[in-house]
Amino acid sequence: MTAPFLPDQSFTGKPLGHTLGHHSQRLEAPSMDGTRRKPISNEVVAAYSHCPRKAFLLHCTEERGTPHEYLEMLEECTNVSRSRYWALLRETSAPIRSYGDDAISSRINVLTEANLRAGDLEAYCDALTKVGTRRGRSNSAAYEPTIVVGTAGVQREQILRLSFAGYVLGQVQGTTAAVGNLVTAGGEHRRINLQPEYKTIKSIVAHIRDWSTDSSGQPPPVVLNKHCPYCPFKIACTRLAEAADNLSLLDRMTSTAMQRYHSRGIFTVAQLSYLFKPRRRRRCDRQRSHHFNLEIQALAIRSGKIYIQAPPEIQKSDIALFLDIEGVPDRQLS
Ligand code: SF4
Repeated sequence: MTAPFLPDQSFTGKPLGHTLGHHSQRLEAPSMDGTRRKPISNEVVAAYSHCPRKAFLLHCTEERGTPHEYLEMLEECTNVSRSRYWALLRETSAPIRSYGDDAISSRINVLTEANLRAGDLEAYCDALTKVGTRRGRSNSAAYEPTIVVGTAGVQREQILRLSFAGYVLGQVQGTTAAVGNLVTAGGEHRRINLQPEYKTIKSIVAHIRDWSTDSSGQPPPVVLNKHCPYCPFKIACTRLAEAADNLSLLDRMTSTAMQRYHSRGIFTVAQLSYLFKPRRRRRCDRQRSHHFNLEIQALAIRSGKIYIQAPPEIQKSDIALFLDIEGVPDRQLS
């Protein structure tokens, strides 16, 4: 007999341990040395893909920062998509029930709201779908994970969340989930091959576990990046970066470029500004496009002056078009 489908009455729209930007009470899993520490969650793994420092702050501290409005909006979109997805599932004739301790062995076709736990790992997925039987155990079902997202397209962070859920599911059910599903805001179902992602997931999990044994307790250094505008720790990190005159304050500074300057003993914007050497331009140089120059940018900041690498060429035409475009980052219009 099929157990009752609970989300109708009990679903809150927020998976366990998945609150955005707010302090969340988490269960603590026992570690190898017997001490208790926070489980590694989808949220932390996804944060690591953007910035190791963000993952550290979420995993190793109680800080939650200030949630960005755009991410709060995405969270609301996810809840709407999730409700729609639950409704569609209820309309199918497949047996369905909420995930619980004995859920995997129940062999029910669809398990919803799955908070999977394996050792110090904790992953949430919106549904587990039965796809067959486990190798070598003809009576046991094998499932694959599904996650609902609030965006129109699929982002790298979401693939990692899903892959982490597949990784934890593999440990719970004893066989790896080869494929997972992402359901977009438009209701599109995308099949994702998880196998190539597991190497990345293992590497991220190993790095996060290292923090638990690192006695220094220091977070990774601030390296401002393209995720910072949406990050809840933006204000604190920007203050730290400004106080240290950090190289990542420069637009288009990459971690590779930063490492290159560090190896030359350049750690601040002021130091970098002294590397700029103006050169006489030859006639043929004027034809070429100019690369963005970090050193002249640093000089402009230190001296408070505006420098022009090359005079802009404005082509005049009888017809002038003025475009004012606003966009949504998710749709590659930002
Ligand atoms: S604000 Fe930027 S540097 Fe700081 S934790 Fe967030 S993503 Fe990392």
